[in-house]
Amino acid sequence: MIIVMKGTATETDLQRVIQTVEELGYQPHVIRGTQRSVIGAIGDERGKARLQSLEAMPGVESVVPILQPFKLASREFKPTRTVVKVRDVEIGGDRVVVMAGPCSVENEDQILETARAVKEAGATILRGGAFKPRTSPYAFQGLGEEGLRLLAAAREETGLAIVTEVLKSEDVDMVAEIADMIQIGARNVQNFALLKRVGEVGKPVLLKRGMATTIQEFLMAAEYVLSEGTYDVVLCERGIRTFETATRFTLDLNAVPVLKKHSHLPVIVDPSHGTGHWEYVTPMAKAAIACGADGLMVEVHIRPEMAMSDGVQSLKPATFRRLMQEIAPFVEAAGRKL
Ligand code: PEP
Ligand code: MN
Repeated sequence: MIIVMKGTATETDLQRVIQTVEELGYQPHVIRGTQRSVIGAIGDERGKARLQSLEAMPGVESVVPILQPFKLASREFKPTRTVVKVRDVEIGGDRVVVMAGPCSVENEDQILETARAVKEAGATILRGGAFKPRTSPYAFQGLGEEGLRLLAAAREETGLAIVTEVLKSEDVDMVAEIADMIQIGARNVQNFALLKRVGEVGKPVLLKRGMATTIQEFLMAAEYVLSEGTYDVVLCERGIRTFETATRFTLDLNAVPVLKKHSHLPVIVDPSHGTGHWEYVTPMAKAAIACGADGLMVEVHIRPEMAMSDGVQSLKPATFRRLMQEIAPFVEAAGRKL
């Protein structure tokens, strides 16, 4: 349920309502607007009638149900768009944000050279996996803690913010200590224990859609993070499984306008995993911006042919520079800035 406060409600009114929501066994989530505040009362759907009685409390204008199963992620709860701040980078604002870097952090030279190159081309967030979810247990699993250290060194030198994936709950604190944004990968989008643990930490989260999750399931995954009190969540469309085999996945750009219709959270697109081939990355990056994406995540490697993971879909720095130039008119046409 959403409890909409009157424009004239006082702080005391608001606090009383919050306290009553808690007493009724619900979790209050407050949005303080410029005109009025609203409180999301999240909990068991069956007790809704008791919350309705809050309409009689001082300062309360109305109590209305949130119809969508995802509550805090919904635009019913928060009609205005959310802007997620990662260090000084704003995702979901005027600018289209580009995150770029290698699939895996491999060594110091590789990550530093890549970081310098993507920064020079205009990326503002450096990506790179230290913990890698690989299909084969025999494939490179990432440098782990050493990878995190190298990412921190790259941030130190370039000033780029860093986003990196966490695979398991036990590693969340270690990753959160270094990362500016914590990535939850496609394979973990319904790892509810991990979603909750990451939500407890409070760092911005990049949540990737699973290759077999519906848009509703994806938003329910975001809801897990939000319900723990972390409101800085960015959604990432990265391709789904279909019958098509010419590309690694099918980049479901439908998801961008659908997610933005139903949710206030920023939406970015990963055309690297979405296509699985470097040649298709730039065209789909343009398409992503045209359909309203708030940003891109692109894999870049200084020597893709030597990459420990996802070399085929990685752009060389020069190609990435071209991508940044080629998307510029699309960014402008979408009414955004780079
Ligand atoms: C990645 O970003 O390198 C990655 C593993 O992505 P996804 O979880 O979308 O497969
Ligand atoms: Mn990858």
